[in-house]
Amino acid sequence: MIKINKLDYPDYYPCSCGMKLELKINDYTTYYKGKRMKILDAPVYECPSGHIQTARVTKVRIKKLLKEAHKMNESEINYQS
Ligand SMILES: [Zn+2]
Repeated sequence: MIKINKLDYPDYYPCSCGMKLELKINDYTTYYKGKRMKILDAPVYECPSGHIQTARVTKVRIKKLLKEAHKMNESEINYQS
């Protein structure tokens, strides 16, 4: 399990819809250069309305992982790899 730095990852913060975004370790699907990519076990924030947010440090890491996965022609990558 990845070490979550509490400074980078507060337990929750307010969502723009007024609900609370809570930290969960979950799969995160996104698109990179037109290809559907899945990041496994990523720390993502979810609110009860289904909105998803990622912390700034998560975005940076995901971007790096996507770049690597794309180069390897993979569509799934583990956040904690
Ligand atoms: Zn929301």
